[in-house]
Amino acid sequence: MKYFLIRLSAFISLIIIVSPASAWWNDTHGALAEKVCKDFNCTCTDDIIDWSNIPDELFKDTSNHHDYDTNIECPESSEWTCPVKNDFKASRKIQEFLDSAKQKEGCSAWKDIAIASHYFFDTKVFWHNVQDEDYFECHKEFEQQVNDLISDKNMDWKVCTCGICVSYGELEPWVIEFEDKIDFIDKVYETPLIVEKENNITFIENIIEHLKYIFHTILKIIL
Ligand SMILES: [Zn+2]
Repeated sequence: MKYFLIRLSAFISLIIIVSPASAWWNDTHGALAEKVCKDFNCTCTDDIIDWSNIPDELFKDTSNHHDYDTNIECPESSEWTCPVKNDFKASRKIQEFLDSAKQKEGCSAWKDIAIASHYFFDTKVFWHNVQDEDYFECHKEFEQQVNDLISDKNMDWKVCTCGICVSYGELEPWVIEFEDKIDFIDKVYETPLIVEKENNITFIENIIEHLKYIFHTILKIIL
């Protein structure tokens, strides 16, 4: 019995150690990449979410997850520093992985596209484009709140941290901007980023909404 308890406690501590310590942004990156994959009718939906998180989980190259653009308006604040020098590290990574995807086919290409999407969507986060911010209060708090709303399938929200706000409506145009960069594969659909979890919308109504999107897109392609 004693031996069993030792084994059990070792097993429980192992679970605690290996579970991800912080995964606040994973669902957001996953949802954005999943929409891109669906819009292009890619067949790699099982892996796309994991691939979109490779830069954070595997490369851990956070110094490449920002663009510093001195031409973009940056409000002065005591809570962050605006960049004084241009530095487009994320943009270079986006290009690198999209160029690499062009040389590949099928899911190998989509792995690179998912990685490129990570760098792209990071550049859309205000906190990735300024320096010396209060990480926990501004940056992490923002990503955590957005991630929770996305994983909860919420569409009606606006998140503000340290005076900087982002609303759900801004996300879809970002996806479309990224999709425009994938000019070597044909886009087929315009699927919703998330299908809202709503009490008064039935499962069937959700499917009908989804079909309407697809039908509308097909019409646009034909006409
Ligand atoms: Zn990142």
